[in-house]
Amino acid sequence: MRAREFEFKRQVNKLGQPVDRGEWEMTPQTVNAYYSPEMNEVVFPAAILQPPFFDVNADDAVNYGSIGAVIGHEISHGFDDEGSQYDGDGNLHDWWTKSDHDKFNIRTKALVAQYGAFSPLEGYQLNGELTLGENIADNSGLPIAYKAYRIALGGKPAPVIDGFTGDQRFCLGWAQVWRGKAREAETIRLIKVDPHSPPRFRGNGTLENLPAFYSAFDVKPGDKMYVPPAQRVRIW
Ligand SMILES: [Zn+2]
Repeated sequence: MRAREFEFKRQVNKLGQPVDRGEWEMTPQTVNAYYSPEMNEVVFPAAILQPPFFDVNADDAVNYGSIGAVIGHEISHGFDDEGSQYDGDGNLHDWWTKSDHDKFNIRTKALVAQYGAFSPLEGYQLNGELTLGENIADNSGLPIAYKAYRIALGGKPAPVIDGFTGDQRFCLGWAQVWRGKAREAETIRLIKVDPHSPPRFRGNGTLENLPAFYSAFDVKPGDKMYVPPAQRVRIW
């Protein structure tokens, strides 16, 4: 309670003071990242820059599929339903036209339905509205990281490493980030309050929308992760 009181006072004392643009909302030891619309900045604490998110000794494909996609995720928050309400100086000023918003809403509606159909436990389904912002970010970040990876190859073919092609390693890098375990009760609690989808669906749901995943692993109709091309969602 004393820690809460201290933090409350620290925040209140900021009133009327100049904005401290050097302040972080996370500690360097936190394995996480964020985008702040008020600061118009993305922050990657030191702790996320280690495996499975980033490995200085791993090849480009794995790093683009992991930290590259996370960087894309955070940047895309500046260009979503929330980020669009803040201008470049972090002031609440919508810089999109009505037609921008309308077109964006049409694309994101499909994501609401897609994630709303995912079921982590029998009798429970994800809330496609609650998790929309984060699903938009995942489904923007991964394809953008893939584009960046292809650019980084500079037109040369990717090497095969440990029997995996570059595109396969890119997808594996993403999937490895989302390995995790939770008890049933915690999974049920989180699907009611967490704006992020459970890790399994952040990993697989995003790959199901990525055309490169299909060609990399020769995914065909009838396979568990197959989604027909017309139903795959692409935001950007
Ligand atoms: Zn996010």
